[in-house]
Amino acid sequence: MTQLADSKKKRKYDAIVIGSGASGGWAAKELCDHGLKTLVLERGRNVDHIKDYPTASKPPWEFEFRGTVPMDKRVGIGSSRFLNEATLHWRLPEDEQPFIQEKPFRWFRGYHMGGKSLLWARQTQRWSDFDFEGPVRDGFAVDWPIRYKDLAPWYDHVEEFIGVAGARDGLEELPDSIVQPAFDISCVEQHFQHKIKEHYNDRHLIQARCAHITDPQPIQIEQGRAKCVNQTMCNRGCNYGGYFSSNASTLPWALKTGNLTIRPHSVAHSIIYKRGKKKAVGVRVVDTHSNEMIDYYAEVIFVNASTLNSNAILLNSTSSRFPDGLGNDHGLLGKYISWHNYRGKASATYEGLLDKMTSGRNPSHSYMPRFRNVYRQEMNFLRGYAIGIGGGRGKDVDTSLIGSELTENLLNPPLGSWKISSWMMGEVVPVKDNHVRLSHDQKDRYGIPQLIVSCDWTENDDKMVEDYMEQSREMFEKAGFVDIEVRDTHSPPGSDIHEMGGIRMGLDPKTSLLNQFNQLHACKNVFVTDGSCMTSTGTQNPTLTFMAITARAANYAVEQLKKREI
Ligand SMILES: Cc1cc2nc3c(=O)[nH]c(=O)nc-3n(C[C@H](O)[C@H](O)[C@H](O)COP(=O)(O)OP(=O)(O)OC[C@H]3O[C@@H](n4cnc5c(N)ncnc54)[C@H](O)[C@@H]3O)c2cc1C
Repeated sequence: MTQLADSKKKRKYDAIVIGSGASGGWAAKELCDHGLKTLVLERGRNVDHIKDYPTASKPPWEFEFRGTVPMDKRVGIGSSRFLNEATLHWRLPEDEQPFIQEKPFRWFRGYHMGGKSLLWARQTQRWSDFDFEGPVRDGFAVDWPIRYKDLAPWYDHVEEFIGVAGARDGLEELPDSIVQPAFDISCVEQHFQHKIKEHYNDRHLIQARCAHITDPQPIQIEQGRAKCVNQTMCNRGCNYGGYFSSNASTLPWALKTGNLTIRPHSVAHSIIYKRGKKKAVGVRVVDTHSNEMIDYYAEVIFVNASTLNSNAILLNSTSSRFPDGLGNDHGLLGKYISWHNYRGKASATYEGLLDKMTSGRNPSHSYMPRFRNVYRQEMNFLRGYAIGIGGGRGKDVDTSLIGSELTENLLNPPLGSWKISSWMMGEVVPVKDNHVRLSHDQKDRYGIPQLIVSCDWTENDDKMVEDYMEQSREMFEKAGFVDIEVRDTHSPPGSDIHEMGGIRMGLDPKTSLLNQFNQLHACKNVFVTDGSCMTSTGTQNPTLTFMAITARAANYAVEQLKKREI
């Protein structure tokens, strides 16, 4: 897939995109579709779809450690609970990017072509106006400069291309997506669904929408992708392209236009600003093989390095015009970092449905959209939480047995009870104190200042977890579940892998960095369209919204270029 762009003579493009992940792939696709010669800069190695998924079809018995990672190989997987022996090829190179945790923070990164689009859980729920209007209604952040109607056509555009499985649920708080048939949910989830309907009129349990192809459409076949075959081994990389990743979808599509150049092993160091021209002219990169610094030039620059890295790049882009970082006229860059609150968990057993068992695999699960503070403020905390729910019936393996009883149990384990579990996905209200900044004295191996991450929970988050735990217990009790356990994991911020903010959108240049089309207010040819642009976080898994925002901004950038406005 890769075409190196090392020639020093030819370093001028129409557009540069920093980062090849979920959002960067979309920027590349849209810009290339409109004929712009586009360079994608990616810090990690190349990953070609299919060729570079070494474990995609490896059977379990071929894994030396049966899936676990031995201690001496844990370097680079950090605090990640996501990587195992089958996905170890995605770990970060050792000492790739140390960062300073002023307060505990889990930062899960995917530094390779495709970024975290290869690792994600593919959940894709749209935002509604209850989310876009939240900050202004509840007074906790600046107003979003866009509303649902502005993004709706771009949600359509993205969903039609990537393929989303789900139902049309007709819920005001979770607008319908363009969907292909949903995966079946388990019978214990169906039972819970009926009980929720019976006991509550403000809560809905639906099939979570996810970026899997269940009924391939011509546009997906044209991408070379096929129907998901429910292997549920997605994070290894999928040979069928059954789920959306940049590698299976947007990047090869953009390459086919002939307009895309991809340069892996290229860490974006900073964006080059020319005061005389009043605009950015290019991107300075460090080649990770040679450590050489190379400048690339373009008319328009898209910053899609994932939230914290995009903040870092802008903070490191200093000039006489912007001594505190590109576009940072009011000291807001890096502030109001936010994420999702996944601290609350619940689990239970169901003693019914014993004539049924789990059959087949579901790469998704069920979902309960936010029901707190939707129409009006009614709780002692702001905003609310969605809930993910999964249930199944496993085998009762009993390793305490010995002899022939143990053999029999291992060979033919009896079915256990139905188990159900849930996890909260709470909106974390952005506060100024939660921020990132650059170290003055500590640098990484590329000579780039290390990022200091200073983020913590607030009382609002604690109250929300309490409510989730109470409500989960109540809902599980109403469903007749037993052995109910609810808990606050007290996991540090970042554990939800949905970090957002720091370069927020807004109407007023004094209180925000980006306008309604994701242009830096103070440097109009730089667009930031990954999670860092998010003014608030909603409760929905955010990547679909990043992709829709990116597609919208890229099309706007093309228009502006044609009109010579940027
Ligand atoms: C286990 C897991 C499950 C998830 N599940 C979901 C889910 O179900 N639904 C959902 O909505 N989201 C989910 N997410 C989050 C989702 O993966 C991210 O929101 C999404 O990938 C962000 O897209 P992005 O383009 O901003 O960043 P990424 O996809 O992370 O891509 C950023 C790219 O930029 C590159 N880069 C970084 N710094 C530089 C630099 N200085 N120079 C050049 N390149 C750089 C990186 O190497 C990377 O390739 C999940 C994440 C994980 C880890």
